[in-house]
Amino acid sequence: MIDEIRSILSQIGEDPARDGLLNTPKRVDRSLRFLTSGYRMNPDELLNGALFDVAYDEMVIVRDIEVFSLCEHHLLPFFGKCHVGYIPNGRVIGLSKIPRLVDMYARRLQVQERLTTQIAETINEKNHPRGVAVVIEAQHHCMIMRGVENQNSIAVTSAMFGAFKDNQNTRNEFLNLVRIPK
Ligand SMILES: [Zn+2]
Repeated sequence: MIDEIRSILSQIGEDPARDGLLNTPKRVDRSLRFLTSGYRMNPDELLNGALFDVAYDEMVIVRDIEVFSLCEHHLLPFFGKCHVGYIPNGRVIGLSKIPRLVDMYARRLQVQERLTTQIAETINEKNHPRGVAVVIEAQHHCMIMRGVENQNSIAVTSAMFGAFKDNQNTRNEFLNLVRIPK
């Protein structure tokens, strides 16, 4: 991508040959590959060996997972917090795998809605819990930097399956524990 990035620098009116920009194409290439490294990972590989038979059937919550992603419409960052909850059905997911699953989908070009759904669907399909809930609260640079709408607005998206969808008490318990106003 290095040649293409150099060409973009020219097209925005810069001189790619000046000192400060000399290594920029190489850096952008590297950072863009990192920020999209989720394409080269898959959930089976990630969760391999991390599903454990455990007799625990209460809600498990991993709260305040940092999310950094790129919006697919502008290639600008959006970032915030992700909260994941699920109710195991005889099997739990290694706790450290949940933030890694969030990262895997966040490190792709995304819209916040799809990112939220993909995390919930993957946990649902791979672990077959009694229910799963994912909430993401994020700020989008394409709104903040381009002066669109309210600069402080936060987009909140959620995806719920099973008990979280069917049972209002379960859903409320989750939302209280992650401090999302109902
Ligand atoms: Zn955008």
